[in-house]
Amino acid sequence: MIWTVLWVAVSDARPAKRVEVDPEAVAAELLGRALTTNEAYDDLVELCDDIGHRLTGSPGLERAVEWARDKLAEDGLDARTETVTVPVWRRNDESATLLAPVERELDVLGLGWSIGTPPGGLEGEVIVVDDFDHFERLPRSEIEGRMVLWDVPFSTYGATVQYRVRGASVAASKGAIASLMRSVTPQSLATPHTGTQRYADDADPIPALAITVEDALAMRRWQERGKTVRMKFSMGAETLPDQQSANVVADLRGRERPDEYVLLGCHLDSWDVGQGAQDDGAGCVIAMDAARLISELDVRPRRSIRVVLFTNEESGLAGGKAFAEAHAGDTYVAALEADTGAGAPEGFRVDIRRGDDTERLQERALQALQPWTPLLAPVGASRLELAYSGADVGPLVEATGTLGLGLINDTSGYWPIHHTPADTIDKVDPATLRRNVGAVAVMAWMLAESSDPPLPARTP
Ligand SMILES: [Zn+2]
Repeated sequence: MIWTVLWVAVSDARPAKRVEVDPEAVAAELLGRALTTNEAYDDLVELCDDIGHRLTGSPGLERAVEWARDKLAEDGLDARTETVTVPVWRRNDESATLLAPVERELDVLGLGWSIGTPPGGLEGEVIVVDDFDHFERLPRSEIEGRMVLWDVPFSTYGATVQYRVRGASVAASKGAIASLMRSVTPQSLATPHTGTQRYADDADPIPALAITVEDALAMRRWQERGKTVRMKFSMGAETLPDQQSANVVADLRGRERPDEYVLLGCHLDSWDVGQGAQDDGAGCVIAMDAARLISELDVRPRRSIRVVLFTNEESGLAGGKAFAEAHAGDTYVAALEADTGAGAPEGFRVDIRRGDDTERLQERALQALQPWTPLLAPVGASRLELAYSGADVGPLVEATGTLGLGLINDTSGYWPIHHTPADTIDKVDPATLRRNVGAVAVMAWMLAESSDPPLPARTP
């Protein structure tokens, strides 16, 4: 027997229902259900094939907002949308041609928030640069009037992506006319990877685009053999006026402490290439399905579950910031994000930011979470590590000191398709997706049910 219902008299003599729950038995039950339902995958097929990409400012994103709200409402959650003003960037037409030492077309993708080129495009010589240190050592005369290619091999995403985000501003500081990025991936099948970039406040904006790893390496070989590399490209990128989008917020009310929430987050927007299947359609259906499975139990968890599908993560993070601002007065026991694809679940990153108290509370949280890891072991998700939780929940974790959790996935199949036209539903394995749903459902349930949360919620 998983739970028993006791009827106890309370002071006003009306019988009140008190529920005795065996949390670990319910967790095992949830995991079993997660592994035998295909609903998350079926939802992801709809999101990817029927709606497609969800770039901020696109009709697809706003269709997805309505789709998700309706799905969550159908599942019995109190689902609504919360309006967010979002910045809008659009790619438009792009093309590139290698002119020397050989002539051929290049497959490129402009980076988010890049400016476009002048109408006729830009033509110039390419200089291959190893990293920021190498750039520092190069005299201005080597850079000025040229296109800088940041040929930086993938080490970790966090380290390598610095070149994508800051490369254009750094290149412009010595007079470069464009910034080319070797795509951020450990393996490549000749696919350019887009992603956001940011001009520093004092930077001269120059066009920024990604080229394939293969083309970056070819340009390096030519440079090392003393050959001049020239190319031309044109980009129609433009920044449009802000628009209205929305976060989707859906609650499953807890039975004893409904004002304490366990947040399950992901982002509904994507880049405009591919279908955003793994980034982050997968995270969305994992969060939605985990909440649905908990809603189908015969007993409600002690605390409320709140699913949040954030808007505009990829090109601005407006959804995460607006949510943290609007909900800073709520009490969160934890904010969990799933945003590293649909590879096998491996565990959870634990993210605590509470000033001087951080180290002590990290220890405490790990000790409290450790006893739950056997419940996650059947799907391989029992690892705990101290690290960054996720971009969307980040502002809430930062502002309120809420416990942040990030689902850890095997990313070996993720980075090669990340932000490319190949991020499509066919790369998602239904059985592995079910394991992810199970891991998140179990973690969410335990957080919502535990009498003692791993980190005391901060009540404002
Ligand atoms: Zn993402």
